[in-house]
Amino acid sequence: MNKSVRTRFAPSPTGMLHVGGVRTALFAYLYAKSHDGTFVLRLEDTDRERFVEGGVEQIIKSLDWLGIHPDEGVWYEEKQGNHGPYIQSKRLPHYKKYAEELVSKGLAYYSSITPESFAGLREEAIQAKRPFVYKYSMEPKEKPNSTEGLPIRLKIPYGETEWHDEVRGISKTPNNLLDDFVILKADGFPTYNFANVIDDHLMEITHVIRGDEFISTTAKHALLYDLLEFERPSWVHLPVILGPDGKKKMSKRDGDVDVLEFEKKGYLKQAMVNFLALLGWNDGSEQEIFSLEELIDKFSIERVQKSPAVFDIARLDWMNGEYIRKLSISELLDMLKPFIPSEWYSDREYLQKVVMLDRERLKTLADARYLMEIFFETPNVDIKLLTQKDSIENIKVWLQKTIDSLEETEFTHDTLEKTLRQLVTELDIKTGQLFYALRIALTGRTEAPGLFDIMLVLGKEETVRRLNREALQ
Ligand code: GLU
Repeated sequence: MNKSVRTRFAPSPTGMLHVGGVRTALFAYLYAKSHDGTFVLRLEDTDRERFVEGGVEQIIKSLDWLGIHPDEGVWYEEKQGNHGPYIQSKRLPHYKKYAEELVSKGLAYYSSITPESFAGLREEAIQAKRPFVYKYSMEPKEKPNSTEGLPIRLKIPYGETEWHDEVRGISKTPNNLLDDFVILKADGFPTYNFANVIDDHLMEITHVIRGDEFISTTAKHALLYDLLEFERPSWVHLPVILGPDGKKKMSKRDGDVDVLEFEKKGYLKQAMVNFLALLGWNDGSEQEIFSLEELIDKFSIERVQKSPAVFDIARLDWMNGEYIRKLSISELLDMLKPFIPSEWYSDREYLQKVVMLDRERLKTLADARYLMEIFFETPNVDIKLLTQKDSIENIKVWLQKTIDSLEETEFTHDTLEKTLRQLVTELDIKTGQLFYALRIALTGRTEAPGLFDIMLVLGKEETVRRLNREALQ
């Protein structure tokens, strides 16, 4: 029988969770869920120098926002499983035990080289333009009396380490390129490479899914699995994420920021999850919109791509718009609360009309404030803009005539259209001239919804008031 799938996300709390980090978490989550497996959240906090206060809370909040909830491990309240604790700094006895076991088998050793001698050897190698690869043979010949306070290094055996990546296939590394790296530091803390392997084994992780920046250390991990006589997991390295130009690694400017920033900017979690899932995976069809359930259903490692993924914010904006339009009006009104003034809710019916009008044009929830404010605040009108198609004298005449005819007109789409087109004929001008002037007079903008729609939402009284304002200036 196949072992049940267990994946994990193993962040180090070194700050906020960026796009790359959540993409990794999502893929590990999707793979576990698509196999009725278990998704574990483990904290790799043994590098005390890189520890950032509040980093853990930040990670949890980010995953929680997107609905990437672990089955086991670190959470607001730890999610209990049979493999805890899930925080590496609480697991020191495990690392000690395995490191000592390797020493007793002659596969690792207490290293007595001083930091000064170590630095000296490295300098020599640099001067001689040779790679610096530390080996047991470089240890001081004289052994100290006690191993107290000494770090433990792995004694890399001769040979070659071969490992298989589910996305990229086989990799081979000659062991003479691997240094006898420290597995347990003098203070009893493990190094990343060691703790990562011990924990993935003890937590029965079947698939190690992570970013491709870890490819270079995987040979060391593979070797450790063998020396410790652990069964190797499957490795799945996800492609790098490039910025929109498709050339450089994604940077802060391209949007590689705290993922919670996207929430603040009015991106929906469904859109974010959908977008992240397509950063390095597709289902082989043209389909672009996937719900979380669908992603779980369709996700497969075979379709994780080798080639870099491109972070295209325009695609995210498009997707977000699609998800916004899937919301019911009342859901959308609720979601807009953090983004628009609370006074706008005092007339919910009116607000609803405005939202229905602007919904098509929303890319993010944050766009709503700008798009909708023309319906709540009398906009300033730039005379230069207003007079782009004719003189102010003529435009004032048109506006006054419009007011006169609107007074008589019932406010429906059809009647408004009929009245205004009649006026165009009467004034002997072009439709575009009149409609442009009216649009600017009513909204101050060239980009706005359809003219009749604007009038219908504003209502006769407000429409006339705004036109009057311009006409009488
Ligand atoms: N702690 C590593 C990180 O910060 C985890 C790497 C891995 O998933 O093996 O990403």
